[in-house]
Amino acid sequence: MPVPIILRAPSRLVPRLLHNIPKHRVFVPYRQFSQSDKILQNDPVLSTAPSRPSHYWHTDYASKTAPVTFSPHNSRAEPSVVSRHWLRDACTCKWCVDPSSGQKSFASCDVPVALDIRSLNSNGGDLVVNWRDDPFTHGDHVSIYPSTLWGGPESVPGTTPKPREWNRELITQASPYYSYQAFMEDGPEYHAAMVAFTELGLIFLRNVPKSENSVKELVARLGVIQDTFYGTTWDVISKPNAENVAYTNSYLGLHQDLLYMDNVPRIQLLHCLENTCTGGESLFSDSYHAARLFTQRYPDLVAPLTNRKVVYHYNKGGHSYRQSRAVLSDLGQSKMGVWWSPPFQDPIQPDKWDESGMHLYNQCHQGSMRLKALFEDAANVYEYKMKPGDCVLFDNRRILHGRRAFDTSSGHRWLKGAYVENASHNSLVANHFRRLAEGK
Ligand SMILES: [Zn+2]
Repeated sequence: MPVPIILRAPSRLVPRLLHNIPKHRVFVPYRQFSQSDKILQNDPVLSTAPSRPSHYWHTDYASKTAPVTFSPHNSRAEPSVVSRHWLRDACTCKWCVDPSSGQKSFASCDVPVALDIRSLNSNGGDLVVNWRDDPFTHGDHVSIYPSTLWGGPESVPGTTPKPREWNRELITQASPYYSYQAFMEDGPEYHAAMVAFTELGLIFLRNVPKSENSVKELVARLGVIQDTFYGTTWDVISKPNAENVAYTNSYLGLHQDLLYMDNVPRIQLLHCLENTCTGGESLFSDSYHAARLFTQRYPDLVAPLTNRKVVYHYNKGGHSYRQSRAVLSDLGQSKMGVWWSPPFQDPIQPDKWDESGMHLYNQCHQGSMRLKALFEDAANVYEYKMKPGDCVLFDNRRILHGRRAFDTSSGHRWLKGAYVENASHNSLVANHFRRLAEGK
């Protein structure tokens, strides 16, 4: 049975200063809370105090290996259990984590299993542990674990916007068009564009300067450029071709780029420098939306598409890439991720040549057919013909892109492309919205 530890010292500043204050002064205000659990448990006044903290922390102080248990306030669920060495390892004080480098000062495996705890206190949901005879700093060591670590009502809600599924109607209403100039400055329009990009995974910039470097400058506002064997930036160029007047560059179905690589590029940028060809409209479809419709309409086909891996490959010009990916993957928070790039599938897929293997293949075939129909449904596809000065930015891990056929005899078409690497974009987004929440 977890037992409440009641906090009487209200100041949040006190624990932060603990390391700087001589020991005998530090723990005087807390002495009353270092008494054994038994005393607290038997005190009817304390156990019914209305201002009790939202977690009950408990351990057997007589043992050096007894775990620490805790339960959220009012929770009747089984208490959570954390071992002492796990807790000691998680200390982020300035001795355990270097403030300038952010690096830990010891290896997890060097933390002894047996550790002496002098007291557990709750400070507004933060857990304050006072270790006796600390193995690293010797003497008393105070660790503070913020309430956000333990979840519950004190958790700070995420500041980064959540993805918002879209179909043609919704994205048409959202009209995610922004000016290049505003996007390059830290103003409200850059913020609005970042919100739209995080929510929708697709935005367009206008009036991008006609320079081959523009796309690189834009990448810096989103993360770090991802170099590939196509080059740091690359060109999609079509010129009028007198010999092949009838030649029409064909339709390119909805897909994602570079699924045969380990680290699939996160964002693709396409800057339109010229476009006088007829046709060639860009097509976009939100895979989160299609996957949600799919799971609602064909629940029995979700498991096959989640279980069977599809092999993607690239074997040309001295390059050899290969990667397996399931069509659907559970991203958590009831969201399904999609990997979809039919042109780059290996024609020979590693299915089992027996009844169960062919049954799974048949189910995936049916599922893929229905999923593709949802991607391509006119109600779900956003179509836009890029004009010179436009640049489209889309989340390649979420948004499928394609292109209508165009007539190469009718003019010039020149797009400049680049990719943004995933982790650097996540980092930039997290920092952007955190700074904003902190009013910086
Ligand atoms: Zn520490």
